[in-house]
This record gives sequence, C-alpha cells and structure tokens, in this order.
Amino acid sequence: MGSLISEVLGVPDEQMDKILGIDDRRNGLCETHGDFIDRHHSGKGRASEGWAGCPQCAEERHQERMREEEYQRQMELMRQRARRFVAQSGIPKRFSGKSFDTYRPVNGKSASILRKIREYSDIVSSGEHAGRSLILLGNVGNGKTHLACALLEDVILRTCKPGHYWTFAELVRDVKASWRKNSEESEQDVYDRFANSELAILDEVGMQNFTDFEQTVAYEAVNARYLLEKPTVVITNLPASELSICLGERVVDRLRESGGKAFDFDWDSYRSKGAEQ
Ligand SMILES: [Zn+2]
Repeated sequence: MGSLISEVLGVPDEQMDKILGIDDRRNGLCETHGDFIDRHHSGKGRASEGWAGCPQCAEERHQERMREEEYQRQMELMRQRARRFVAQSGIPKRFSGKSFDTYRPVNGKSASILRKIREYSDIVSSGEHAGRSLILLGNVGNGKTHLACALLEDVILRTCKPGHYWTFAELVRDVKASWRKNSEESEQDVYDRFANSELAILDEVGMQNFTDFEQTVAYEAVNARYLLEKPTVVITNLPASELSICLGERVVDRLRESGGKAFDFDWDSYRSKGAEQ
C-alpha cells in the first residue's frame, strides 16, 4: 500500500522516496507511539543524513517549537506595547529612565522609603492594591519625583497597562480648557482620563495657592480614581501639617483610605549631595 501523500499526488512510493531523499526503511519501535516505519535520509533532500525516528515524536517536537515561538512572539508584542505605554506616560524627559536602581539613598530613612515603594510597586502590579494610594511629602531635591517615575515605569512594564504622570497645574489647565466653547473634551472627560490609567502620579501639588476651585479639582480627580479603586500617588513639597489645609481634608481622607500611606522625605537636602530630585 502506498503512503497517503503518494496516493494524493499519484506518485509511486519509490519516486516519492527519491524526491524526499529517502534511501532506506526499517521497522522502528517508539516507547510512546509503538510501531512505526523508520526512514533513512540520504542527506541529499532537505533532511540531514540519518534515520528520522518516530514521525509522531517529530511532529510533537515540531508543535512544541511552534508553541514556544508563538509564546515568544506574544511576549515581544507585550514588551513593545508596554514600552509604548511608557513613552506615552507623560514622565518628564529629565526623569525618563530613572529607575529604582539609579536612586541613591542618602540615609537610612531614604533607603527604607525606597524599599517600601518597591513593595508598593509589587502590590500595584499584582492588582491586589484595592486602590491603596501614596502621599510623598517633604523637601525638594530628595528624590520624590525620581521614585514616583521609577514606580510608574515599573508598574507599566510589569502590568502592560497604561499609567500617567500629571502635574497638578496640567490637571487644572486641562479642566479649564474643557470649558472652552470648541473643546472636544468635557470636564468629566478630563477626570475620566485621569481616572482610567492603572496608576496615576499627581506631582507638584501645593506649588499654587489653593483656591476652592483647585481644591475641587483635586477632590474630583482623586475621588474619580477612588471610586474605581485605582491607586494614586500624590507628590507635594508641603509638610504633612499643611497638606489637609491646602488640598482639603476630604482629598487627604480619600488618599488615606484603603490603607494609603504617607512617606515624608523630611531630611535636609544639603546632606543628599549627588541625589537627584
Ligand atoms: Zn514516538
């Protein structure tokens, strides 16, 4: 009886063997698949010289290779997607590429904060955060924005989901821009945009005089994420004692709910020469 392929093509077996470079056959026994006809390749066809072995084993190896290649391809697409999200995250140029590894703790407290923010990144990336937020307080030049940007990039790369960096002034500007007659975005759209990303960093809070309007913007933005149980990191140069007064108590309450923590970068920055903002 001819093989299936030779029957389909209407070519006799011997001729088919020639085309495939097969110059010998023998009975084979596979531990998994049992009896099979082993084929010897002359090395003149596509296969290299030698006995081919069990065809079903060969097929399974082939399938496994295809699955592995497909897996690698999907992983590479995910990596490209995550890198695109990082590029679109709004991380300021001077902080792009700043990572946990390039942050130089200048004292025990900064080393402890670095460790806790790394742990926070694990929690946010795992999705087990229940909306837990962070407040980074304290002196300029102690690396708050560096660590927040490192955190944001880390979370984006690990979750392959978009995350965004905003300054408070940008948020206020976008809300005001939504009032223009020809604006394509409504005020709600701005808050939705703020709320939608996996992690949002809100930097430079407290650089301005807090009017009722600004307190409302801060509340609407933070509350929109709170309702979706999404984590927010607020960065401010204000001392803890002034935060509630400037930002409004209900904003701080929202940030502290679900176990939100505040880290105070309160050491003198003159001692942290070489450390970056
Ligand atoms: Zn086999």
